Formats: sequence, structure tokens, C-alpha cells
Amino acid sequence: MPSGEKIKICQQCGTCTGSCPTSYLMDYGPREVIAAFRAGMIDKVVKSNTIWLCTSCYSCTVRCPANIKITDLMYELKRLAIKYDLLPKDSKNPAMTKYFIDNVSKYGRNHEVGLMAKFMLTKDWGMPFRFAGLGLKLFTAGRLPLAPKQIRGKEEIAKMSAYLDAQEAKAQ
Ligand code: SF4
Ligand code: SF4
Repeated sequence: MPSGEKIKICQQCGTCTGSCPTSYLMDYGPREVIAAFRAGMIDKVVKSNTIWLCTSCYSCTVRCPANIKITDLMYELKRLAIKYDLLPKDSKNPAMTKYFIDNVSKYGRNHEVGLMAKFMLTKDWGMPFRFAGLGLKLFTAGRLPLAPKQIRGKEEIAKMSAYLDAQEAKAQ
């Protein structure tokens, strides 16, 4: 990972965990992730719920006094977890990640309705009942368009995605 060696200079100050909006739900907060990484205990972190609860808000990264790219580290761990099938038991998050990437590759941006429809059909039939009220509110407010919105230049995004897939396949 670019700049990955910087984890050696982590001061364990805890600013990252204190800044993280989802750390209270994580098995290990970002500070502990760095500590575990340095102690060679990556498997524990990868199998925990931590990386899947990271919302990529970048609060930890912008506040880290050692300039460690913690968000990128979380992404790298997600990639490793998927690649080596080291997932928390019954985890549905990798499927969500895959559908999100499929959407971005196809339309240049996410399509929430399509993503949730795929997710519900394959992973969670109960979801429509739990989120019907919220879904209706978002729909009536025009926040859930049924047809995907597409960006200009989506062909370039698709090319980038194909290129990265090819690089990943080559590295294996
Ligand atoms: S904010 Fe940076 S230096 Fe502090 S514990 Fe987190 S990673 Fe380490
Ligand atoms: S990027 Fe992830 S780990 Fe960092 S503060 Fe945001 S949610 Fe927490």
C-alpha cells in the first residue's frame, strides 16, 4: 500500500478512534487496527467487523498527526479480506461492495434503487419491511430515482475499472 510503512510511526494517540463516527460499533477501533497490524495480527482485524463499518469519511486520515492514510488502509484490508475469503461469519457487506462497484463501473455513479434491489433479492429479503417507511419518504422527496442517472465519460470509468481488474489478475 502506498505510504503503508508510515504505520511504524503511529504514536497510538487515539485521535483516529476519537474522530471515527462508527468506532463505537467496531470490534477494534482504527488505533487498535494499527497496533494489531504492527503486531502481525492482521487476521484478527480482517475477520472482525471493523473494516466493514468504515464509512470512508476520512476524519481519521485528515486528523492523524503522523499523516497515516488510515482510510486507505481500511480499503486495503477490505481487498485482502475479499481476496482471501477472510470474512466475518454471515457477512453481507462484500456483496454490497460488489454491487456498488458494478453500478459505478456501469453508470459512472451509484444507483441506490438498483443496488438495494439486488442486495435484497440475494441477501436480505426482510429489508423492504424494515426500511419501507424510510424508502417511501426518500422516494417521495425525489431522493430515490427509479432509473439510474449516468455521468458523462462513463466509458472512461469502465475502462479504468477494466484496467484495474486486469492489474489485479496479473498480480495474482
Ligand atoms: S491518529 Fe494516527 S498516530 Fe494517532 S493513533 Fe491514529 S494512526 Fe496512530
Ligand atoms: S474513514 Fe473509516 S475508520 Fe476513518 S474515521 Fe471514517 S469511518 Fe472511521
